[in-house]
Amino acid sequence: MRFDVLTLFPTMIDDYCSQSILKRARENNIIEVNTINPRNFSLDKHKKVDDTPYGGGAGMVLMAQPFVDAYESIDISNNSLTVMLTPQGKTFNEKMCVDFSNFEQIILICGHYEGFDERIRDIIKPFEVSIGDFVLTGGELPALCLIDSVSRKLEGTLGKLLSAEEDSFSNGLLEYPQYTKPRDFRGYKVPDVLLNGNHSEIEKFRKEESIKRTKLRRSDLLRNN
Ligand code: SAM
Repeated sequence: MRFDVLTLFPTMIDDYCSQSILKRARENNIIEVNTINPRNFSLDKHKKVDDTPYGGGAGMVLMAQPFVDAYESIDISNNSLTVMLTPQGKTFNEKMCVDFSNFEQIILICGHYEGFDERIRDIIKPFEVSIGDFVLTGGELPALCLIDSVSRKLEGTLGKLLSAEEDSFSNGLLEYPQYTKPRDFRGYKVPDVLLNGNHSEIEKFRKEESIKRTKLRRSDLLRNN
């Protein structure tokens, strides 16, 4: 899977993707992460990428020319999806994440400041994605959320794919509680059933805990099943 990220702040993307599990996924050629900086495509002599909004108002709007030219410089595969990160998009969720993992290439367009000149949307016609009903300063964190969560779905990114299969949301439920050593921490004990080595009892306990937890915290997930 190849991610091409249009961003005015490429180091934000590179730094995150050079750590931990994503670093290993890149080294193992499971994912490739490229950044394209629209500033390098600006035809302005000062490499300007934003300007004041027509009609007045606060802040700076991202200009169409550097973004559209940067986008058109990308080698686009037949099995590719273009995503614009914007609070006005469809809210990202588990189903979208799984669907996205089937593409060969995802192009991510990150905004900043007051957001995009509308003609960037008109010309590129991206699929618009939001990561929630709140506003961030830029699209880099949302793009990283998408890169990270989609990468986890690709075979080989996680040590055992099973650990993704049992994650919250993957089966419509929240995950059961997890414990590690020691058995007793400040009087809080690991449930006996997890220590007896009986796999069917452990599986039953985990399923029950998963349902209990989902009912308590996210009953909407049970209704949607
Ligand atoms: N003025 C814009 C609006 O009201 O829709 C918000 C611009 S925001 C300050 C700057 C950039 O951050 C956006 O262009 C987008 O790329 C990104 N962004 C902010 N919040 C986001 C969210 N919830 N989901 C996805 N991207 C977001």
